[in-house]
Amino acid sequence: MNCPLCNEKTSLGAEYCIAHANALENLKQAFHLWTTAFGTLTVPDFLHRLEKLPGTGNKTREIARYLLENPSRWT
Ligand SMILES: [Zn+2]
Repeated sequence: MNCPLCNEKTSLGAEYCIAHANALENLKQAFHLWTTAFGTLTVPDFLHRLEKLPGTGNKTREIARYLLENPSRWT
């Protein structure tokens, strides 16, 4: 299987390459922190905000964009 974001081969059974799997993990943790801080926050809202933050890394930006285009991937 290949990572849907960068097309790199993933390890057996993994959906994303290590870099993007980490980025997704960080993103989910950030979402949890943000919902605690802001109260209600939808996933698309969160992803849009994250994309606009100057401190967001490239990998995180890529996964944020991917999740905006494929909302069902957020699980
Ligand atoms: Zn990747």
